[in-house]
Amino acid sequence: MEDLPRIALITGASRGIGRSIALKLAESGHKIAINYNSHKEDAEKVLKEVESLGSEGIIVKANVSKLNEVQEMINFVEENLGNIEILYNNAGIISDSLLMRMKPEDFDRVIDTNLKGTFYCTKLCINNMIKNRWGRVINISSVVGIRGNIGQSNYSASKAGIHSFTKSIAKEVATRNITVNVIAPGYVSTATTNVLSEKVKKEVMSWIPMQRFGEPEEIAPIAAFLAKEEARYITGEIIRVDGGMAI
Ligand code: NDP
Repeated sequence: MEDLPRIALITGASRGIGRSIALKLAESGHKIAINYNSHKEDAEKVLKEVESLGSEGIIVKANVSKLNEVQEMINFVEENLGNIEILYNNAGIISDSLLMRMKPEDFDRVIDTNLKGTFYCTKLCINNMIKNRWGRVINISSVVGIRGNIGQSNYSASKAGIHSFTKSIAKEVATRNITVNVIAPGYVSTATTNVLSEKVKKEVMSWIPMQRFGEPEEIAPIAAFLAKEEARYITGEIIRVDGGMAI
C-alpha cells in the first residue's frame, strides 16, 4: 500500500529528537505541526528547515500539561493544516533528584508534562483517527522507563506509565486501523543530556554496550517508519533505540 502525505503533530519539536523527527517526516512530504512551549525562535527555525525540504508546516505553542492549551493547539492545527493523522508525543522534561530530596511539585511537573501531556494529546486526537479509520500514535519514552534510574523516580515513573498507557490504547483502537507504539531511546545527545557532568557521562557510558550516546538522527528513522503503511501490523510495541543499554 502506498504512503499518502499525511498531517502530523509532533509535540516538543523545537529542538532535539522532536526536531529530527520533523525533518525526517518532511522528507516524505508530510505536513507538519511543530509544537513548542517556550522556544518560538527554535520552532521557527525548524519550520524553515521543513519548508526547505519541500514540505508544508506550522508552528504551534502549547504547554502539553495543560488540557485547555492542548485543545487550542489541536483546533489550530485542524483549522490550518487539517485533521491530525499522525501524533508524536515527544515533549518531555526531567527534574532529577534523589527521592529523599524530591519535592512533590517536581514529581507532579514531570508526570504532568510527560504522562498527562501524552494522555491529553492522544485523547484529543483519537476521535478523528477513529472516525477516519486510520491513525498513528507514537510515544517517546525512555530506557529508564524500563530499567529505572537513581535520581529519576519521577521521570522513570512517567515513562513507564507511557508504556502501559500505550499498550492499553493500542488494544482499544486496534480494529480501527490505528497503531499505538513507543520508542524508548537511551541517552541521546540533546539539550537534556548536554548538561550532564563529565563524571556522570562517564558512568552512563559504562552502561552502554556501544560506548557512545545516540544522535537524534538515529531515533528519527524508526519514528518515521512506524507512521508508514508497512508498519500497520505493529502495535503496542516498545522499541528501544539505546545502543544496547537495556539488554
Ligand atoms: P529537548 O530538551 O532537547 O527538547 C524538549 C522539547 O520538548 C522542546 O521542544 C521543548 O519545547 C518541549 N517541551 C518541554 N516541555 C514542554 C511542554 N510542557 N509542552 C510542550 N513542549 C514542551 O529534549 P529531547 O529531544 O532530549 O527529548 C525529547 C523526548 O525524548 C522527551 O520525551 C525525552 O524524555 C525523551 N528522551 C530523551 C533522551 C535523551 O537522552 N535526550 C533519552 C530518552 C528519552 P521548548 O524548548 O519550546 O520549551
